[in-house]
Amino acid sequence: MRTNIYKKQILELLQKRHLLTISEINNIIPDADYSTVFRNIEQLLKDNEIKKVMINNKLTAYESIKDNHDHFICNGCGGVESISLLISQRDLNNKTVSDITVRGACAKCKES
Ligand SMILES: [Zn+2]
Ligand SMILES: [Zn+2]
Repeated sequence: MRTNIYKKQILELLQKRHLLTISEINNIIPDADYSTVFRNIEQLLKDNEIKKVMINNKLTAYESIKDNHDHFICNGCGGVESISLLISQRDLNNKTVSDITVRGACAKCKES
């Protein structure tokens, strides 16, 4: 099935590259149209193979579930840095924390 080919391609892509949006995935795999990529992303999220990271109100990126780190996202330029917060390894009141997003201003945006 064609859909399965794309699902595998998208997963392999996200295992190699960090944080891609649907448009970016679409550019790298031009054979798959936007809705095909979208459908496969939804499926991979359900399968717990990838996770969603909200960059800002308009931008959502995806990465492999195996990317075991947290993110710092700059409110100014939207830059993303991988960080490690020890709390993500712990259980929080019976909830398992998989990742934490910290927002603020990066060094560059803080200056200006
Ligand atoms: Zn910034
Ligand atoms: Zn990441």
